[in-house]
Amino acid sequence: MHHRRLFTAAAAAALILSLTPSTAATAAPDATPYYWNVDGPASALTALADSGIDVAHTEADGSAVVVADTATANGLKAQGLDVSFVDTVYKPVPPGAQAADTYYGGYHTTTAHETHLTQVATSYPSLATVYDIGDSWLKTQGQGGHDIKAICITKKQAGDCALAPQSTKPRFSMIAQIHAREIATGEVAWKFIDLLTSGYGTNSRITALLDTTEIWIVPIANPDGVDIVAAGGNNPRLQRKNAHTGGGCTGTSIGVDLNRNSTFKWGGGGSSSSPCSEVYRGASAGSEPEVRALENWFKAIHPDQRGTSDTAPVPSNARDVMITLHSYGGYVVIPWGWTSADAPNDTTLRALGQDMADSNGYFVGNGPETVGYTSAGVTDDFTYGALGVASYTFEMGADFGTCGGFTPAYSCVNSTIWAGNRDALLTGAEAADSPYN
Ligand SMILES: [Zn+2]
Repeated sequence: MHHRRLFTAAAAAALILSLTPSTAATAAPDATPYYWNVDGPASALTALADSGIDVAHTEADGSAVVVADTATANGLKAQGLDVSFVDTVYKPVPPGAQAADTYYGGYHTTTAHETHLTQVATSYPSLATVYDIGDSWLKTQGQGGHDIKAICITKKQAGDCALAPQSTKPRFSMIAQIHAREIATGEVAWKFIDLLTSGYGTNSRITALLDTTEIWIVPIANPDGVDIVAAGGNNPRLQRKNAHTGGGCTGTSIGVDLNRNSTFKWGGGGSSSSPCSEVYRGASAGSEPEVRALENWFKAIHPDQRGTSDTAPVPSNARDVMITLHSYGGYVVIPWGWTSADAPNDTTLRALGQDMADSNGYFVGNGPETVGYTSAGVTDDFTYGALGVASYTFEMGADFGTCGGFTPAYSCVNSTIWAGNRDALLTGAEAADSPYN
């Protein structure tokens, strides 16, 4: 039995830095990640994230669930923290042939998504238009990378699907896999695109939606990150951030958290200035090309309907809805993320959130009410706070089990995650005309 010594945050940070990520990078046979519950002094738990430990979520009792290999978990235990095993990260992959450009039982690679968008636009020229909205970080460095792709889906009339904020039809926008390892989210975007295009003219609900509304989707908001994830094959690498190297970070601790890099209220609580943190906010607001591409695209398709004061409500006749897809927890998250104060449109944001939650069964609340903490620099604070779009984060899927966590078994996409969210997404899209009343 080790001698339990007085714990200090500084000591913890120093030890943790020496344990990871070098341990994970070199001890290949023991590098399998698991979910662990970690409890201890609040200051020590706070220090975990800045030290590069991967804090996946916080429990209601204040303890943390971290993703770590066994050696790292033992290191935390040796510091006097209470560490207990919770679940595996990787679920069994059924044997048998896997389609090209897929990983981990059927999840689609970035390349597969790009091909899919091109095929949809070719098959449904009267419905779909694909745009290149900017470059990934690796592409800006001349190191491969990707164009970030958006698809507009509507029954096209003259002037529809233009990159201009004033449009005849109201707009619903959706992005997925800005956190690359939240792999079910890109699949849900894929299936939503197929539902809309194949349903026009055959399904009355979808026909009515596409006759009246433009649906804009970025299925892979962080393509470089998804390449890293997919390279793990049946053991997807747990890359959350983009592929921006530097800061002495290695393995999946490289990169900037694209959901902490937005230009609205950048730099506050729930984001880190430590480059190896999973919530590293980047060197400056909008420093990352992926975030600039997304924000420029949002500004190009949604009119600015909001004043600049934090307390100025969006007018009740404003239009447009945005949903950003994340995993996990079972939440419909409304603004704000950056503060625990109510957003000026709290009541109406909550009401539409509940309309969507009536079908997916999720819990509705702002950041502190759902995930349990404030998060500055998030996507939906930008689209709501800067533009006045009624904006939501879906945290899709259960915490643990075969269909839970960051990497559910592929069969869960159809059976649970897509099935459970399809109608909620349609409800959100149908509200684009008047989300605030
Ligand atoms: Zn996420």
